[in-house]
Parts: sequence; C-alpha cells; structure tokens
Amino acid sequence: MDPIVLEYMREVLKTAQEMSRKGLVVGSSGNCSARVQDTGMVVITPTSIEYELMLFEDMCIVNMDGEQLEGRYAPSIEINMHLQVYRGRPDVGGIVHTHQTMATAVGVTGEGIPPILEEQVFSIFGGVELAKYALPGTKELAENAVQALANRNACLLAHHGVLAVGPKLRDALLNAEIVERAAAVYIFSREIGEPRIVPFMESGSEAGSS
Ligand SMILES: [Zn+2]
Repeated sequence: MDPIVLEYMREVLKTAQEMSRKGLVVGSSGNCSARVQDTGMVVITPTSIEYELMLFEDMCIVNMDGEQLEGRYAPSIEINMHLQVYRGRPDVGGIVHTHQTMATAVGVTGEGIPPILEEQVFSIFGGVELAKYALPGTKELAENAVQALANRNACLLAHHGVLAVGPKLRDALLNAEIVERAAAVYIFSREIGEPRIVPFMESGSEAGSS
C-alpha cells in the first residue's frame, strides 16, 4: 500500500485512541476519519471495536461513494456523516465524532453553545449549533449534522454527542476539546449568572457564518 496511506492509517488510529484517553468517548462509541489528500480516499475507524483493542490493520479505507476498499471490519456506522461533510467542505481534512459529556449535556437542553470564548470563535468560527435529532447512522443524522455545521468547525448532535472538523485530523480533535471547554464554561457560568458572548461577536453577525 502507498506509504502515504499507511501514514494516514497510523494517524487515524492514534487520534481514535487519544479520543478515548481524553475521555471524549466511552467503549467503542465515536469515530474519526481523515481524507487522504488528492486520492478520493478516506481512512476511518471500524465499527464496534473498543479503542484499546483497535489495531493499525483494523483501519478501514473507503472511497467518496462509501465503497470499502480496505479493512477486515465494516467502517463506522457514521461513515455517511463523514462523507457528507467531506463532499461539502473541501477545507476539511479530518473529522472526529465524540460522545463528550459536557457538550452533550448542553445539547440535551435543546440549545447550542453561544460564542462565549475567544478560542471557540477563533477555532470553531462562532457558536456551536445543535443538529436536529435523528437516529445514529442514518442519512437524516448526516444531513442534520451538515446543516448545523455549515461553515463552522463543530456542531452538537442532539442526545448524542459532537461532530468536530478541521483542516487536519489533529485540528478536529483539538476543536472537539475546545467545544468541551466551552460547554463546561457555559454550564458553570449559567450557575452564577448570565453568560455573555465575546464582545467582538456582539454586532450580530457570527464570524465565519453565512
Ligand atoms: Zn455517536
């Protein structure tokens, strides 16, 4: 196999295990992927394998139509969500889908996270919108997520978790962590007062939103 593809496979495995170590996922939940530059291929984690047991050779390779090219297990059931994002966002090279607790807690209230932190606005490009609920692995969830994501770098999935993207997979993981911090700050600040949005976002138009 092309050594560049092998490098992407290593990166996807490393990021998946990092998601688990950082407590952003539980068991085999969540998934991550990377677009292999200029090849039309995507490397994605397999479905239903616990992160500690996941091996390099378990990584799945699919094309942009979702057809599996490599891998002994089926790709993550959220493969369509990943492919839909890659199709609509040429700037995205990596995607993580997590079940992180604080952000999920905000999502179950039926709202997103307003643009309250500088780092959030600089990295996510604004507030973190909430995608409408749909069952995991469905086309509907993929569509709702793409809509909530728009041209920002993260969105919440109702009653489920977070989708975070970036130019590279490591940026996507960092963005998921920034969402978790923003969610925690949002929850804590609501305990003691009324959270305010970042002053330069107050003019009405969110940075990066269309
Ligand atoms: Zn999930």
